[in-house]
Amino acid sequence: MYVTRPAERNLRRTATIGLEPLTNMDSGSLHLPAEQNYDCVQCGRSCKAGWDIAVEEPVRRQLEGHPLTLRVIQQHGAALVEKKTGPVLNMTPACGYLEPDLLCGIHRHIGVEAKPNICRLFPYILSSTPEGTYVGVSYSCTAVRQNSGRPLSVQGEEIAALLKSGTTVNVVGEDGLLVHASWFTQWSDYRNLENQIWRRAELVGMQAALAEALTGVARQVAGWARPRNTSPRPAPEELTGCLPAAPELLARVRGEMWAQLSEHSLPELEGVGATLGALEGVEPLDTPEVEKYLRHLVFRKQLVIHPTLLSNLCLLDFLPTFLALYGQGFARLRGRVMQDQDYWDALDVAEKFLVYHCRGLRPVYQRCARFLVEQLRSPV
Ligand code: SF4
Repeated sequence: MYVTRPAERNLRRTATIGLEPLTNMDSGSLHLPAEQNYDCVQCGRSCKAGWDIAVEEPVRRQLEGHPLTLRVIQQHGAALVEKKTGPVLNMTPACGYLEPDLLCGIHRHIGVEAKPNICRLFPYILSSTPEGTYVGVSYSCTAVRQNSGRPLSVQGEEIAALLKSGTTVNVVGEDGLLVHASWFTQWSDYRNLENQIWRRAELVGMQAALAEALTGVARQVAGWARPRNTSPRPAPEELTGCLPAAPELLARVRGEMWAQLSEHSLPELEGVGATLGALEGVEPLDTPEVEKYLRHLVFRKQLVIHPTLLSNLCLLDFLPTFLALYGQGFARLRGRVMQDQDYWDALDVAEKFLVYHCRGLRPVYQRCARFLVEQLRSPV
């Protein structure tokens, strides 16, 4: 039985998810990934990424008037920039607090507690669920991409301390998880699907398992009667799970995804945009590194931390194709066949622009999910 009232409440929480402070929440048990390492290699890359790093009021008070801040203003013109949403760090061309040895000046001269919350948290991605907090990491981080440092599985105490300090987490509710359009389901139903994905991944690999999950959920949704309005409503049945994938259909959906993404300004890092070939003929990249990334995305609850489940499946299914396209693009730019660095750079673009830090692209993924469902409702 589905419960409607709490679902609507949670629907709003998951629909606007972003990050919530954990101060007054029970962090529950920590779930740490088994095969992921991380220790900062001080590359300073994340401090040059041009993100908007929000500066909370207590942090602003500590920074304002501090000799370090005066030096930053002298050198860079400004330490903070006022945005509509509040003050952010001046990141042009890099964070002004980044020192020549690529260490954080705030951390070194004032203390870790004076750092904005996002800086303290990075590269962790914490997702609070009814089963406890899942600890993921951003593949925008050099150390994470290269799997460098101690296993995350031994970093529980540090992460628990981070949680206690009142950092922010994604919140995945017990109920109200959007599957597609206004249909929602419960956490337990999603977990059954995820368990099935993991079982299939053991047999056929995560890439194929995700394609099967996308096919299964899309076919099921296509069989549901179209709602007359957009009010949130419980899905008419539990998710039945993976189905054999139809390669031609998936190729059409990936083509649609690429067509939609091409209308947005995708990153022109190092001029890679000009080197991208057409999607036709590009085979999804199928390597142990891609498999590891996809597994980590499922582990860190990427399928449900933002709505909707079906659109997230579309995105994860598209990622290996995107990585092949951009990896080959970087290699072409550098006049060689694809090497590790080309893949790392493609992965950085994927994580930064498409997956976790996606900038306004969620409607694109949702349009893609609608395209898939419509294809199944009226097959050509
Ligand atoms: S990108 Fe990762 S490794 Fe590099 S400075 Fe940031 S946290 Fe450290």
